[in-house]
Amino acid sequence: MFFLDLLELDRVLRQLKSMYGSIDESLRGWNWSNDVLSPPLEGVYLGVSELANRYCSTYRDVYLKRVLSKPAPFSYKTVRGWIYHTVCKRVVEKAKSMLYHEGIVNGHRLYSSLLIDRRDIIDKVLEEYRVPSYLKEYEIEKLKREAEALYSFLALQAAARLDRVLSRISRPDLESVISKVIPVDVERIVNGQLLGLSSELKIDMFADKRIVIEIKTGDIRDFHKYAVTGYALAVESDLDIPIDYGIVSYISLKEENVKIRNKIYFIGDELRREFLEIRDEAFNVIRRGIDPGKPPECPEYCVYYGVCI
Ligand code: SF4
Repeated sequence: MFFLDLLELDRVLRQLKSMYGSIDESLRGWNWSNDVLSPPLEGVYLGVSELANRYCSTYRDVYLKRVLSKPAPFSYKTVRGWIYHTVCKRVVEKAKSMLYHEGIVNGHRLYSSLLIDRRDIIDKVLEEYRVPSYLKEYEIEKLKREAEALYSFLALQAAARLDRVLSRISRPDLESVISKVIPVDVERIVNGQLLGLSSELKIDMFADKRIVIEIKTGDIRDFHKYAVTGYALAVESDLDIPIDYGIVSYISLKEENVKIRNKIYFIGDELRREFLEIRDEAFNVIRRGIDPGKPPECPEYCVYYGVCI
């Protein structure tokens, strides 16, 4: 997903747009001052993920975090998410900087260069997140192997993409090669405060200044579509550019084999309204300050499961 072929992607996005049509301008993030978009509470700013990750239908997670200031405990899955995200970021950044540094090389050379200090990079990432303080020894070893496998997989994708781009250009220049091989900004920060969202929202990947990409490292959940919707609205409110598409990219590893599954969304009126309803309900829970209670059934994968049950 990080080494996209924008032409191929463009075809898919056009199809989506022809199916869903246009977007009501009053639901664009830059119209943040209207009744639907303006936040119901002043001075409270929420993260997109705490709204979008709707494990809990009664919003007890919001109550626990925002009213009782009780953060969700860290699990293996939480730590794994941090590490996978950071590995993706490192490979993209490193591929970009190597191309700037070494100039136009072929895919094989890029791949070899990316792999040279792979182990050191992974060790530093684990250190940066103080992984030994959260996980047991055998979990750390497993995570390390997975992180290395993910790193190598992404390095190979970068190299293959570079070769494909070079094979199509007769007189390549460095800037255009890099923009075609790696057309994404990693961890782009946007300010969502005009919509009641955090001032430093981190978008995993921002492609071609028109697509927000969210990386997920767990199971596929329907509510993940609200994460890209929230980021799209925030980009529109902060940067005044229209965002019609979002991609949720699911990364998983099975016996060190990497699987990537992408779900592409047209961020139309319905998704926008649904995200804003979630935001408003979360604000209501905070304003009331009363425990909303548990839903009839709590999913075991809820991050607060060990706290509520
Ligand atoms: S464990 Fe149940 S009540 Fe608690 S936050 Fe999760 S879904 Fe809600």
